Amino acid sequence: MNKEGSLTINSENIFPIIKKWLYSDHDIFFREAVSNACDAITKLKKLGMIGEYEIPEDQKFEVHVIVDAGAKTITFSDNGIGMDAEEVDKYINQIAFSGAKDFLEKYKDKANDDQIIGHFGLGFYSVFMVADRVTIDTLSWKAGSVPVHWESDGGTSYEMSDGDRDQIGTTITLYLGEDSYEFSNEYRAREVLEKYCSFMPVPIYLDVVKEEKEEPVEETAREAGEQTAEAETSSDENAGEKADAKTESGEKKPEEPKPINTVNPLWNKHPNECTEEEYKEFYRKVFHDYKEPLFWIHLNMDYPFNLKGILYFPKINTEYDSIEGTIKLYNNQVFVADNIKEVIPEFLLLLKGVIDCPDLPLNVSRSALQNDGFVRKISDYITKKVADRLSGMCKTDRENYEKFWDDINPFIKFGCLRDEKFSEKMKDYIIFKDLSGKYLTLPDILKENEEKGQKNKVFYVTDEKEQSQYIEMFRKEGQNAVILKHTIDAPFITHMEQQNQEIRFMRIDADLTDSFREEVKEEEKEALQKDSDSLKEVFRKALNNDKLEVKAEKLKDASIAAVMTLSEESRRMQDMMKMYGMSGMDFGAPSETLVLNLSHPLVQHVLSHKDEDVTLFCEQIYDLAALAHGSLSPERMSAFITRTNEVMMKLV
Ligand code: ADP
Repeated sequence: MNKEGSLTINSENIFPIIKKWLYSDHDIFFREAVSNACDAITKLKKLGMIGEYEIPEDQKFEVHVIVDAGAKTITFSDNGIGMDAEEVDKYINQIAFSGAKDFLEKYKDKANDDQIIGHFGLGFYSVFMVADRVTIDTLSWKAGSVPVHWESDGGTSYEMSDGDRDQIGTTITLYLGEDSYEFSNEYRAREVLEKYCSFMPVPIYLDVVKEEKEEPVEETAREAGEQTAEAETSSDENAGEKADAKTESGEKKPEEPKPINTVNPLWNKHPNECTEEEYKEFYRKVFHDYKEPLFWIHLNMDYPFNLKGILYFPKINTEYDSIEGTIKLYNNQVFVADNIKEVIPEFLLLLKGVIDCPDLPLNVSRSALQNDGFVRKISDYITKKVADRLSGMCKTDRENYEKFWDDINPFIKFGCLRDEKFSEKMKDYIIFKDLSGKYLTLPDILKENEEKGQKNKVFYVTDEKEQSQYIEMFRKEGQNAVILKHTIDAPFITHMEQQNQEIRFMRIDADLTDSFREEVKEEEKEALQKDSDSLKEVFRKALNNDKLEVKAEKLKDASIAAVMTLSEESRRMQDMMKMYGMSGMDFGAPSETLVLNLSHPLVQHVLSHKDEDVTLFCEQIYDLAALAHGSLSPERMSAFITRTNEVMMKLV
């Protein structure tokens, strides 16, 4: 047989497009070629199973990827079903080509703004993204088949002739183009294979053709006398030398590596059959994270769609406040891409995990996927499973739930903010750590606070160090507060208040409630107001600030001279401004109030003396209150230190 042909009419442009398109994902041809090889083997095994073909007893089904950095070739070799001439014509010359062409025609204008998930659909022809010349040598499983040799130089024509392959299967050799030599490098090839093929169902070996450095190159190549085309691909002298050394001959030493893949990924096993160690090992291997995951959820369903996967809750480094997860999406054990937010609910991307869903329509654009009702169902299912597992754990394994809470709460809160359904399912399972380290639910807190006369209020601490003075006051008064110190907590508080309209969250320094005040008799009130007014005047004058909010109260704790309070509303506003990087802006009313304690002798002293030291007292009281409420600006801090020295000098 000898056949030459033109791939199709109107095809002049297809190769340039293939080469240009999806530039950053050129490595995807590895996935296409290897998965075709795996498919070919799976098909032959099936023929064996149904008795159509007798599999030799010692047959080992394997895919070999052979990289030769010197010759700049990559070879994909399988012992699958192979193809006869008719099939090459049909599947390669017609179907594969027209498939690629259809695909490109549909998406060539969309490459940048509306990408195809995982670029499924390009198939066999994706090898032309990197190869200048491609050969196929194949022998069909069918008895009496003639081997076929096919080659194409990446133009629009091919040549087909009888080949010399004597083993059933297919070998595809890529002669890499100048821009793509990197893929024949052992490490690059391994990296790409591990990315796409780690869980394909047939053992895949990476074989590396090593260069014998000492060999007298020129002569050896001539003697070997084959595949001169490889040497010719190199134009410059040095590269030519190297290329010669690597022509197919005895000097090369192919290595015998272990398969790069696991043919039975853990997610395919039934959860009951997986051990804790297996889950942990899988996690280490796939995510290269040597910190143990906290726990995991194994998804396993066949109906109404096929979906399997394992989602891990990683240990979070709260110190840096950042959570970065990865969800790897697979399609029948073939890697598609990481973090496809069209399929995986966004908040789940904070986890680490794998999802294998063979039913996904992957040869459509991202926007189509986003609007696909079926895909939405898959996404909802994953969310539901995660919520079920978390709420189940809270109900039946509260101890572990509490133990993990500090790590998992940012994730849960983010989920509640992003996903109504998740929020609805989780709302009774949000817990709060209180000042004594106990975990309480919202109803627990509300009940406790109501008993203490603080109906519908939840007090919270965002920084135990900065708010220590207030915490101390709360403790003394037997008041409780919860600790909410993650950045997600600010929006989450707002979310909780929207869900429960009557409830108010107040930071511990927002106000001094009645429980901290002495009871004031009716007849004392007027005198108290007078004191308060005159102190306000004295402080404003002393501090040279007529906007300062000052008020005086009789606090139960006589050891505190003054406290700063910061209204909840304006503080939240301030925090928001900071978050949007607008902290320098003036946004209206002062939010801080200096609360002076009339039960404190220093305050009484200021009230009853008008001497020169009053200014000193006022400044010092004000700065101390501010210090207990965080920190002072550099200028204020230096003034404070100088003044403190001055005060001490008076004692000398
Ligand atoms: P797809 O794999 O999506 O069908 P491809 O373009 O990748 O599209 O391949 C086209 C066809 O060529 C395959 O369906 C298969 O019949 C045939 N083919 C490709 N590679 C091999 C191989 N290694 N062994 C046998 N047949 C193959």
